[in-house]
Amino acid sequence: MTSDVVIVGAGPTGLLLASELALAGVDPIVLERLPEPTGLSKAMALLGRSVDMLERRGLLDRFAERAPVGPPVFAHFAMLPLDLAVVAELGLRGILLPQAQTEEILLERALELGVKIRRNQEVDGLAQEQDGVTLTVGGQRVRARFVVGCDGGSSTVRKLAGIGFPGIPLAPATTSGLHRAGWHRRRRPSQAADRRAPALLRERNHAPERRILPGDHQ
Ligand SMILES: Cc1cc2nc3c(=O)[nH]c(=O)nc-3n(C[C@H](O)[C@H](O)[C@H](O)COP(=O)(O)OP(=O)(O)OC[C@H]3O[C@@H](n4cnc5c(N)ncnc54)[C@H](O)[C@@H]3O)c2cc1C
Repeated sequence: MTSDVVIVGAGPTGLLLASELALAGVDPIVLERLPEPTGLSKAMALLGRSVDMLERRGLLDRFAERAPVGPPVFAHFAMLPLDLAVVAELGLRGILLPQAQTEEILLERALELGVKIRRNQEVDGLAQEQDGVTLTVGGQRVRARFVVGCDGGSSTVRKLAGIGFPGIPLAPATTSGLHRAGWHRRRRPSQAADRRAPALLRERNHAPERRILPGDHQ
């Protein structure tokens, strides 16, 4: 198999990139190790610039058919709640939609644009050459001028290409304003305004527990 661009991974990144390349006149092939989508979801929502970007690409209507698009009632970063009231003027919008459905929409779009998606294709080797790249997929060779690793956080392509991802070791963090260090709390969006609604508390190294809290940060 030979292609101009091979995209490894049919997650949201690979599918959207494939559509973008197809719109630009490139004929990419997507290689995905899974025989079919799992239907499982990591992400449950899209927020802010992701929503704006989908609108710019003419895709937001497809998302809006499945879930309302509007001001987010709850947001967090690593389960630390973000108070969006302080950035209200930014006009952030969100969509509560499981990632599996996002992938369905992005897959539909890529197929409409003629993108070839090959499943059951796990990339396990990569050799960089003068004028391209040779991938191996279960003993088969695939040649491409360019390869893009969209194969997730533990990317095989990244490792095979010798690209590091060093990061920093986990270290204890301290947060001011919390009465119990390390507690994250979360309410369902529908309960966000109700200070007496049950909250999910998560303490480092302990199972989550449900509590009713009398006020903020207690
Ligand atoms: C618990 C959790 C909650 C999250 N919540 C949110 C959220 O609310 N909102 C949000 O925007 N983001 C959220 N994220 C982040 C979001 O899930 C990721 O940003 C997103 O999945 C990244 O997409 P991706 O396509 O880059 O990678 P992935 O989704 O990891 O897809 C990679 C694809 O590559 C395939 N693949 C892997 N290796 C190979 C190989 N060797 N050969 C061929 N195929 C391969 C995999 O099967 C997979 O289909 C969350 C993440 C987690 C873990």
